[in-house]
Amino acid sequence: MGIERIRGIGVVGAGTMGRGIGQLFVQAGYPVVLHDMSAQASAEARDFIAAMLRRRVEKGEMTQADAMAALGRLSLADDLTDLSGVDLVIEAVAERLDVKQDLFRRLEDLLRPEAILATNTSSLMVTAIAAGCRRPERVVGYHFFNPVPLMRLIEVIGGERTDPELIRTFSDLSRAVGHEPIVSADTPGFVVNHAGRALYTEGLQLLQDRVASASDIDTLLREMAGFRMGPFELFDLTGIDVSGSVVESISAQYFRDPRYRSSPIVRRRVASGMLGRKTGRGFYRYDGQKIQRPAEPPVPEGRLPERVFVADAPPELPALVERLGAQLDTGFVPAADSLILVAPLGSDCATVCAEKGFDPARTIGIESLFGFSGGRRCLVAPVGADRHRIDAAHRLFAGDGAKVTICNDSVGLVAQRIIAAIVNLGCEIAQQGIAAPTDIDKAVRIGLGYPAGPLGLGDHYGARRILQVLEGLQALTGDPRYRPSGWLRRRARLGLSLLVADAL
Ligand code: NAD
Repeated sequence: MGIERIRGIGVVGAGTMGRGIGQLFVQAGYPVVLHDMSAQASAEARDFIAAMLRRRVEKGEMTQADAMAALGRLSLADDLTDLSGVDLVIEAVAERLDVKQDLFRRLEDLLRPEAILATNTSSLMVTAIAAGCRRPERVVGYHFFNPVPLMRLIEVIGGERTDPELIRTFSDLSRAVGHEPIVSADTPGFVVNHAGRALYTEGLQLLQDRVASASDIDTLLREMAGFRMGPFELFDLTGIDVSGSVVESISAQYFRDPRYRSSPIVRRRVASGMLGRKTGRGFYRYDGQKIQRPAEPPVPEGRLPERVFVADAPPELPALVERLGAQLDTGFVPAADSLILVAPLGSDCATVCAEKGFDPARTIGIESLFGFSGGRRCLVAPVGADRHRIDAAHRLFAGDGAKVTICNDSVGLVAQRIIAAIVNLGCEIAQQGIAAPTDIDKAVRIGLGYPAGPLGLGDHYGARRILQVLEGLQALTGDPRYRPSGWLRRRARLGLSLLVADAL
């Protein structure tokens, strides 16, 4: 069925999502009949859509006449039977299988046999919703993001018995209303909510291991890796209760695969009632909607390290050290008074010190995956590090005005570990054929606002280096959570882009 056959659209459920979906389609010229079991919710949705259209007119995004015409295309239905003439119903009712199945059964009794039923479920199986229908081939997953008119991504999901032609129809329909479709298999979290787990779970693991504070982890992700928000800012924005339950639900649906493991931190936070912005306190405190970040620690007073021995580091690091005013120790082994600088990739300072026979008291690690030209540097203090040496290294690396974050020792440090987890999970999604490689990246870029999709991020930082980080994490922690995806391993070994599809 081509989109020309979709003339009238029904939307059931007029809450957060239903009203956004209604707005999107009336704006795009479709007549929409909106039904909610609560007449008040429908009326509020209409007022909301009218206000949104007014705002667009005020911003010069549409004319008054177009806004009036769009609103004129919206009608409210007190009774579900008023939807009988539409060609497509999109449901955005409560996230319960029994509720959605019951609704679709009632709709099948009302609608023409060729009408299509679309579900906006986030976490239920489209196949299971369709299984309650007489015509499961007419049921499709159509997953929007909040706020619908602004979040331009839609995931189109076929259930086991969905007519494949409907996937094309819904992809075309998405483009016709100005959105970007991606096609996902019917798997837990589809693409966006699945790919988005790694940022949260690896952030939690770092916090649980006391590698760095929540705000330091967020800062490193933002300022070194170019993310708009780190995991804990995101937790606070979406609500720790809401995102925490998505983390747990996906973990359960993947049979507790350690890749998806959450942390007791989440349940403790939820129990405390500090749920994020909506309660005025979460991982951060809020002054109204304004986040209160801890102050940047001052650069300690004192002298620079006299001499620095740089071991196993990218070539630009010795040059940076000299530029910042320290003398390089170019001996075969560090001189007795030199600060030893290491740049572990997929390792930790302790391992490097043990392997090379370096004294941990005067060794400092530095994050190297992101280069050194940005405005923030991440230093790592090994167990047994001398406080004066840490301070001297802080002074040195803050010497050109860069900000410095100092963390405890950890395999994969902070940001490289989170990036490796994100890339690895994206590769696993590709490996399982949940979506095409380019769709995975598009979904993550648009749906999650990351600076690049997971496969593109892997290509950017180098698949071999990402693999090295993961292999180090797996070997040194023994945690199967870090096992590299076959998709990543094969492409890294062959020097291919992570966006290259499988041969068959
Ligand atoms: P919501 O609670 O804001 O709105 C749900 C509306 O559905 C309510 O107005 C309720 O009265 C109505 N409703 C419930 N059962 C009904 C029924 N049987 N018949 C008619 N109306 C009924 O919920 P929401 O956030 O809009 O979520 C709706 C759906 O969209 C869920 O499946 C959810 O998982 C999914 N979703 C939500 C988001 C989000 O960010 N909120 C994002 C993507 C998908």
